Amino acid sequence: MWPFGRATVFIRSRFLETDSVGELPVGRRLPLIRHELFHVQQGQEWGFLSYWVKQLSARLRHLSISARESSVEAPAYEAQHTAHAALDETGIPR
Ligand SMILES: [Zn+2]
Repeated sequence: MWPFGRATVFIRSRFLETDSVGELPVGRRLPLIRHELFHVQQGQEWGFLSYWVKQLSARLRHLSISARESSVEAPAYEAQHTAHAALDETGIPR
């Protein structure tokens, strides 16, 4: 989340990956993208500075870099799990 309403979502790989049949594994990444988009929504709702203050204080309070149980991360993980549950076993939305 950046000032002036900008957001950048970083996904782990910089390389285009395909599965065993040459298809893009986009579906399997949808839950992670949903998690990150939840943070974008938080940043839009709270504002840039407040978002980062909440993120940093959550990590300090939980003494964890992931702070999964924090009020900032828990709803993002919930959105991620909901998106995951909406995919079938091949990663395609049901
Ligand atoms: Zn997160």
